[in-house]
Amino acid sequence: MAIGVVFSNDYEIFMIRNSVSENEILIEPTTRLLKAMESEEIPLTIFADTECLLRFRNLGMEEFPQQAEEQLKDCLRRGHDVQNHVHPHWRYALYDQKTRAWSYDENKFLLGNVGNSDLEIYSQTVKVLTETKKYLQSLLDPVDANYRCIAYRAGGYGIQPKDSLILKALETTGYTIDSSIAPGLVLKTKFNRVDFSNLPHLANYFMKAQGGIHSSQPEGILEVPIAATSLLPFYYVKNIVRKLHRKVFAKSEAYEWLNRGGGLNTAEGYSANRWEVLKDRTKSLFQPWSYLNLGPDSTADSLFETAVSYYQRFRQPMVFSILCHSKTLSNSMIQEFLGFHRKMKQKFPSTYRAIRISEARSFLNLT
Ligand SMILES: [Zn+2]
Repeated sequence: MAIGVVFSNDYEIFMIRNSVSENEILIEPTTRLLKAMESEEIPLTIFADTECLLRFRNLGMEEFPQQAEEQLKDCLRRGHDVQNHVHPHWRYALYDQKTRAWSYDENKFLLGNVGNSDLEIYSQTVKVLTETKKYLQSLLDPVDANYRCIAYRAGGYGIQPKDSLILKALETTGYTIDSSIAPGLVLKTKFNRVDFSNLPHLANYFMKAQGGIHSSQPEGILEVPIAATSLLPFYYVKNIVRKLHRKVFAKSEAYEWLNRGGGLNTAEGYSANRWEVLKDRTKSLFQPWSYLNLGPDSTADSLFETAVSYYQRFRQPMVFSILCHSKTLSNSMIQEFLGFHRKMKQKFPSTYRAIRISEARSFLNLT
């Protein structure tokens, strides 16, 4: 039974605090990642935070988007994939030159919140999806005339709230694949509104406006999920031990990114006090659930176990995604990413393949 894995990278800077140059935060780690992926012949799918690049442009800050655009073109040239990742709040973000910090209207963090009525949300979403798609299309068309921007990953997994409207907008604007869903993830923070419980019991399925993300349709937007699983007691304990081991013994370079910047949901984003940071990390240690998101605590083994458990849950031809963020990458994390690939290859020698997300439909023999 065919197993396609999309190695994906959310290509974005930190949402609040960027303490070093964008080059150091994003471009340079991506260069290292690409080189490593190519050494194992793994294609990477980059989900580019398009609204961010456009915002830099609009504010006359040219250097970063120019570097990023060159890198995205280079990725495509080298056989990788580039698709769309939307963090809509960038459109309204304000930059403080002195502190190098960004500030936003928190209500604009999710597409489903960017209007006061359904009609307004829908038309705003169509506008954002159209403009960002056009941006990638015109950037990458000169590199490859066959390039199509057809896949979408919501910022902060935020295909909710208003998933029906967002799916309708995705269809209207010509997207055919979504990769925002990590089955089982429930994330209700100041910024996120995610409830991915009670999804159809299928490895991949089609979604339409009617029924939203909780209903499987005969056709529509194909979901390529970020594989996830709840941990059985044995694996739960094993996972805690492994994470603790990594926290204590792993090269502290896995946490070096904290010197480079901070995000939204973790206390680390706010340069909070040590106690808050410790609380965050403790919480992540005891999570009874795991998904294919490469973090400082991930190991090739932990990622592999999650993937196998996901496979065993469905036992059908499938395509799922594993996710990393350039901004938090370290060399040891990149090695775990590659290690995961090698383990998959070993376990499923004839059925496993690392693919680009735009190949997902043909991989599953869909039209
Ligand atoms: Zn993101």
